[in-house]
Amino acid sequence: MTKSELNKFREILEAKQAELARVLRNREAIAIEKSPDALDEVQHAAERELAIRNLDRESNLLRLVRLALRRLEDGSFGMCLHCEEAISPRRLAAVPWARYCIQCQEAADRSQATESDNYDEVLVNAA
Ligand SMILES: [Zn+2]
Repeated sequence: MTKSELNKFREILEAKQAELARVLRNREAIAIEKSPDALDEVQHAAERELAIRNLDRESNLLRLVRLALRRLEDGSFGMCLHCEEAISPRRLAAVPWARYCIQCQEAADRSQATESDNYDEVLVNAA
């Protein structure tokens, strides 16, 4: 990958990181908001639940974006963490924070969700 391609990915990832950090701050505000009104409370409970679910997903994405920025720094960006082959440019264009090539990702997706999460962690710690 050329230096200008790497810089382009850095810009995309930094913008995504800033966006997610902003969204997460707002979500946290919703998640802890309390209402004194009982009817409102029902509505808020639903909103809170949704906010918390999104919070989980977005925190996880933010973590992936940060890891991708770290890989840009150490020069391993664009390489699959599992098989160490280059991740296809098309996949990186769609998912700049992708850690695995499409084959390894699909293999991970096929296993149980919790298993693949652990699998991810093991690989991240090993990297
Ligand atoms: Zn791979």
